[in-house]
Amino acid sequence: MKADFIDTFKVDSDKVAFDREHRRKINYNIAKYDEAVIRGKLTYVNLPLAKIRAAHIKYKVVNNLDKYLIDFESKFTSRGGKVIWAKDAHEAIKEILLICKKHYIKSVVKSKSMTTEEIEFNEEVKKSGVESIETDLGEFIVQMAGQKPYHIVTPAMHLSKEDVSMLLSSKFGINAESTPEEVTAFVRELLREKFIHAGAGISGANFLIADTGSVCVTENEGNGLLSMSFPPVHIVIAGIEKIIPSLTDLGLYWPLLASHGTGQTMSVYNSIVSGPRKDGEIDGPLDMYVILLDNGRSRVLADEKARQALSCIRCGACLNACPVYKTIGGHTYNSTYSGPIGSVITPFLKDFADFGHLSAASSLCGKCTEVCPVNIPLHKLLLNNRNIMVKKGLIDKQWTRGIKISKMILKSRKLMNMGGGKFKNSMARYFLKSMWGERRKFPEFQPKTFSQIWEQELKSNQ
Ligand code: SF4
Repeated sequence: MKADFIDTFKVDSDKVAFDREHRRKINYNIAKYDEAVIRGKLTYVNLPLAKIRAAHIKYKVVNNLDKYLIDFESKFTSRGGKVIWAKDAHEAIKEILLICKKHYIKSVVKSKSMTTEEIEFNEEVKKSGVESIETDLGEFIVQMAGQKPYHIVTPAMHLSKEDVSMLLSSKFGINAESTPEEVTAFVRELLREKFIHAGAGISGANFLIADTGSVCVTENEGNGLLSMSFPPVHIVIAGIEKIIPSLTDLGLYWPLLASHGTGQTMSVYNSIVSGPRKDGEIDGPLDMYVILLDNGRSRVLADEKARQALSCIRCGACLNACPVYKTIGGHTYNSTYSGPIGSVITPFLKDFADFGHLSAASSLCGKCTEVCPVNIPLHKLLLNNRNIMVKKGLIDKQWTRGIKISKMILKSRKLMNMGGGKFKNSMARYFLKSMWGERRKFPEFQPKTFSQIWEQELKSNQ
């Protein structure tokens, strides 16, 4: 393991875990989410069956990605759209900048998309003089705060309404005590101008539909719809795993995503776009591009167990359920995808040496697996990652030695009974105290082992 990433993770975790104000905000927001999800799931007569079907279809797609992606490409290009395959973030950015150059684009409006976060879209295009403005309210807020999204569905979950009005007051001079309605009205007004002048709209894709060659975007504010239809060029950046086989599958995935993501029966805006504007149509972009991004997904696919993680529909439910996420917060992961799903895929998307430690940031309680709408066995995949870490020799040497010694002692009754509690306590403190942390009470050995007490009892009863 590389020390800098894991050390930063430890320091940040410790800081956030004991930040009471952070905890208050997250508990408040997740409690609201939990209430909504209970209501959202009530619409299902048989939710477990819906989850099994959704998992089955996605897993079939994941195992036949080559076929479905080609189907998507041929259908989409037959209607005038262009497909670009990008093996990594660098290639994706290079292609986007070429499109910007070709169409003289100097500013873009962007709807919420974690894939664009993954390739650091805003930062990269800015270097080439292209202004990128987030149009999802939560994303706009974190962009103005100079932060990264805290959560894959609710990017500004860690901020209270007071934090937001203060932030926008400092940036734009609005009343620092503005209500959420006033803040929303102000941002809407500001963004309308941006939509009018943008040279391109950038979006992700919740689903890519193979049989119709369409891009499906689900959202609640309408900014995605505007980003896709108002500017003359629309660029979609989508991970290769976003494929579903057929338009009819949306009947399964849309409600699952809405109910598990926000507790809604359906998201407010569900758009399906299948190419640029055709002759005679009065709106829509003149040019449309879909960038199919690999960026490490092939490495996830290559691992027979981990590939199940490619079924993820990014609903965020596993983050909200995770006791570790709720304690250390989204930014501590230092990666685009946080929480259980982030801990599973990030080591593959980046590398195990820098991000493998995330797989240990779990109590393995299994709550993530329980809430996942596509039945991804997340806690088992975290164990799979830990196994990979061992095979790659990336486990801390001191830890490995400690485990070997513990194994040897635990297997021998003679060694277990050796020395009194005092001796064991001093040895344990010497070797383990630094790993235990400052704030937890260090466990104490009793003066005698269970077997010694048992033997004594037997003797006294004879
Ligand atoms: S792993 Fe499952 S619960 Fe987590 S974001 Fe993906 S679909 Fe949702």
